[in-house]
Amino acid sequence: MTKTVLLMLSGGLDSSFILYHLLTNTDYDIVTHHISHRYDSEPRWVQEDVATEAVVAYCREHCRAFRHTESVFDFRGFPKHVGWDSDMQVMVASKVAPNLRGKVTVALGWTADSMEKPVVQDRMKRNCTNNMWEVCRNSIDNTNKRSRLNPKLWMPLVDMRYYKTDILRECPKELVDLTWSCRRPIRGEPCGRCFSCKERVAAANIVHFKQGVKDDL
Ligand SMILES: [Zn+2]
Repeated sequence: MTKTVLLMLSGGLDSSFILYHLLTNTDYDIVTHHISHRYDSEPRWVQEDVATEAVVAYCREHCRAFRHTESVFDFRGFPKHVGWDSDMQVMVASKVAPNLRGKVTVALGWTADSMEKPVVQDRMKRNCTNNMWEVCRNSIDNTNKRSRLNPKLWMPLVDMRYYKTDILRECPKELVDLTWSCRRPIRGEPCGRCFSCKERVAAANIVHFKQGVKDDL
């Protein structure tokens, strides 16, 4: 049976690197899915949508062909709580994956960095993401379709013990430049203050310092 990977692609550095890595290092049938997740507290979907389109085009040109799909969820007007992006990814994956051929594994873009955050460790203790996938997978009525979905979510960068710094060392610079990290852009530019901006700049500074390069990302 074909090994199919459904990669949830946000347009950020982590999932974009996973795409590049899987296309260049495996012969898996890769399908990407991007969620244009629109909500007021982190208005970054425009930049993420543009980044995703550019990343897909780059990887198709420089790696190999793959199928890309998208969906839109618009929660504007609900300012206080929209939940975790990964919860939305898992739920949407359970709608997309049964439509794909072969044995399907769902891949998420978490890194070794993310696993060290207290809030993520708390979720791990409560097994939130895996429980959510189990419930979503079990909600599929068709037994054959359900059984073709890997019960275990795959986090390639966590398995590889890859931190942001490892990604920045390995990912082609042109691809890094196409990705988007900021959670709250200001007039279309990275804010420099959100945790994603800080995390990316800190990783870039470490990599560049070690390589003796002075310019930043
Ligand atoms: Zn930012």
